[in-house]
Amino acid sequence: MIVLGKFGSVNPRSRGWRGSRFTSSGLRPAVARLAIHCVAIREIRVRSSRLGVLVVLSSGVFTPCHAFTQTPMIAFMSYQSVNPATGKVLKKFKEITNKQLETSLKTAATCFATWRFKTFAERAAVVAKAAAILRARVDEFAKPVTLEMGKLIAESRGEVELSADILDYYAKNAESFLAPQTLKPSSGEAVIEIAPFGVLFGVQPWNFPYYQLARFAAPNLMAGNVVMVKHAGCVPQCAIAFEKLWLEAGAPAGAYTNLIISYEQVNRVIDDSRIEGVALTGSVDAGKSVAARAGQNLKKTTMELGGSDAFIVLEDADLEKTVKWAVWAKMNNTGQCCVAGKRFIVVESVADKFLEKFQTALAAFKPGDPMDWATTLGPLSTEAALVQLLGQIKNALKKGAKLVLGGKRVDRPGAYMEPTILTNIKPSNPAYHEEFFGPVALFFRVKDEDEAVALANDSEFGLGGSVFTADVARGKRVASRIDTGMVFINHPTWTSAELPFGGIKNSGYGRELSSLGIQEFVNKKLVRVSSIDAPA
Ligand code: NAP
Repeated sequence: MIVLGKFGSVNPRSRGWRGSRFTSSGLRPAVARLAIHCVAIREIRVRSSRLGVLVVLSSGVFTPCHAFTQTPMIAFMSYQSVNPATGKVLKKFKEITNKQLETSLKTAATCFATWRFKTFAERAAVVAKAAAILRARVDEFAKPVTLEMGKLIAESRGEVELSADILDYYAKNAESFLAPQTLKPSSGEAVIEIAPFGVLFGVQPWNFPYYQLARFAAPNLMAGNVVMVKHAGCVPQCAIAFEKLWLEAGAPAGAYTNLIISYEQVNRVIDDSRIEGVALTGSVDAGKSVAARAGQNLKKTTMELGGSDAFIVLEDADLEKTVKWAVWAKMNNTGQCCVAGKRFIVVESVADKFLEKFQTALAAFKPGDPMDWATTLGPLSTEAALVQLLGQIKNALKKGAKLVLGGKRVDRPGAYMEPTILTNIKPSNPAYHEEFFGPVALFFRVKDEDEAVALANDSEFGLGGSVFTADVARGKRVASRIDTGMVFINHPTWTSAELPFGGIKNSGYGRELSSLGIQEFVNKKLVRVSSIDAPA
């Protein structure tokens, strides 16, 4: 019998699950799958809620249950800030009750009834004020990002400024993006009017704790929608700071609501008839779960999911500059970006030189306190994230990959991971298909441009990608052949307010940012005027 602490137990022989406390839909099937692997499991330990259930395999390796079962098993987690640089718990937060949730839903719906009829100028005043507050107090907003998820302080400041840019962009442009469009029918008049949907629900990830919220909230508030957000469990202080920002900027209660809720309550919110649309940014598993629930309710969704972006280097690329960008693509946010360079695909004739320079540059990163401006390598967001990444590396090596650099946790307190390069990854290796969310680069040599494109497209993901070449026309031709939502030439995939962001395939659907992002949750309503005497 394997005991899951106070939560239940799994019988390895019968593979049966006897649960005690969980009714969560995600947990039981996950444990059932876990039971199938029981032979390989020596012990299961329940750790802090942030870590979820940790499995100790018979090989002695720790792995979070959800990595092992491909199903999230943190249904019982509560919200807590843990400094990943030290492991110290900073603050814990309790999930709200269903009664409190009902009050929040009511407040949001009431707010929508008036917010939708505000002029663009009135809404822009609030959104621009929020941007001004972020700019005026960059340090204050940046600090909890670094403390809760370990982002280097300079990057946290950059994120606060980027979020302010997004708010300003929509305050300035929303009215023109949503202007009525006059059509030219064969008779009479026709116009497409744009109206907000209503109360929207967003589920958001920790890796950019404000930017993700800004790109959901700003366009939708400007469109006249109101938003409710379930942020990731490890960044509750950022979530609360962002909600306070809106109140301080003059938004009415209910325009922006932070919800500290369980997965079960997430489903309750999606089911609620007052919710008109759902947006999720996060992993493929979370996307499947939330999109399925919304689908059952016929609610429109946008899904911004994971990626395994190709970083293609052609033989004519400026190698010095390309390697600098490769390092940035891999190490920005400690590799925890959906659009981080994940697969480095280099044409044979320059592969050795590229790898040598890339390895030297990655080896030079220095771990330290992410609050210290001199630090270049911060921790991963959580201990669980580190454990998962180490498990993926171990598995990749077992299946034939070769380690060129790193591969271990850094020998110091905190969730630090060595910058890592893996090569010799064959299609039969799970690593070929997985997303590595951290400072782990998968390196591939290819014969030529055609092979590079074929490899880039051989992925279940389709988020971003980049091509480095001295010939921009060639870069554009290659970009046209890559099946993703975004391709950058001579720059890693990146983001700014005016550029659409989103993917295809398992990277999701829909777009955020730019003029496209504000069109996702609006009703494009036809208003037609005909002569009463017109023929039928
Ligand atoms: P995650 O585990 O999927 O979490 C994202 C959010 O979904 C969190 O708020 C999480 O809550 C919630 N969640 C997870 N499973 C859920 C479920 N079954 N029901 C309801 N809510 C659920 O992803 P992550 O590890 O935080 O973020 C990394 C992933 O996000 C990567 O795959 C990355 O590529 C992707 N990402 C994509 C984009 C994009 O724009 N395409 C941007 C950033 C990140 P808890 O924290 O409480 O579990």
